[in-house]
Amino acid sequence: MILLANSEAYPGIEYSARQLNEGQDGLLSLIEGIKRVELDPRVRTVGYGGWPNVLGEMELDASVMDGDSLRTGAVGALKGYMHPVEVAHKIMTELNHEILVGEGAALFAKEIGAKAGNNLIEDSKRVWWEKMEQSMTKEEQAAFPHLPLAPLSNNATDPERVRDTTVFLCQDTHKKISVATSTSGWAWKYPGRLGDSPIIGAGSYADSRYGACACTHTGEMAIRCATSHAVVLYMKMGLSLDDAVYEAIKDLDYLKDGYTEGVTIHAIDKHNNHKVVSLNCPGNITYWYWISGMDKPEERQAEVIMTK
Ligand code: ASP
Repeated sequence: MILLANSEAYPGIEYSARQLNEGQDGLLSLIEGIKRVELDPRVRTVGYGGWPNVLGEMELDASVMDGDSLRTGAVGALKGYMHPVEVAHKIMTELNHEILVGEGAALFAKEIGAKAGNNLIEDSKRVWWEKMEQSMTKEEQAAFPHLPLAPLSNNATDPERVRDTTVFLCQDTHKKISVATSTSGWAWKYPGRLGDSPIIGAGSYADSRYGACACTHTGEMAIRCATSHAVVLYMKMGLSLDDAVYEAIKDLDYLKDGYTEGVTIHAIDKHNNHKVVSLNCPGNITYWYWISGMDKPEERQAEVIMTK
């Protein structure tokens, strides 16, 4: 058994490890851990306490994948619900679809009795409006939100600073490999923007025959390179876990524009190896790691590859 998660996972990682240790299904263990992250306002990039879009609205993204069945569930731009990861899971178990977005996602969340609530905390609202004020003239402030939003969304935030998601990956006692993600996405994003977190193959992928991968930071990059599927596919084609991750880093490094700095790949293979690599990241990136036999998860330092 192995459990891997990114730094934001601290409110839920121990719970997931305990669940796994007690023989619980891997995907359910991840979901229960992520629910704790979603409810914790100290984590400013996931669920309650996350960052809003350019209109000041919380739009949440999440996904789950079961590596035995290759079934997935994902939700994008969900408003008004506290546990997007649970809604994503129900999409997987209750529908013949793999992804729902926007109004349809909220309708489904209501239908399944998902926990409703307002994820925007006062501090996020204050910071959001301060940045918006700095990005608008007095006339524009008076006209807001009836003005073109694209320039505001592009200018109001520095994507290098506003980042993260939570990603959890595991292999359970039955050797099933699973992955799950949850995020409020890119702060001040254009309404309706989806990052990689709800896009299976970009922000996450799991296949019990080979391994799993999940990415954090600017999701547009992982979408362009289909990074998570690429890592698993490289393993299928015979590369070791380390080489598969390095190959996916090369794919990202090939991109000539965008924000690849800080994109971080988290991956496990079916032999309980793990690898966490961050591209051109100036800061410290940590992650959480647990394997059976350990008392509790420990925080470790990610490998950083600098190409610029
Ligand atoms: N990957 C997330 C997104 O693009 C955000 C992040 O992890 O920084 O929405």
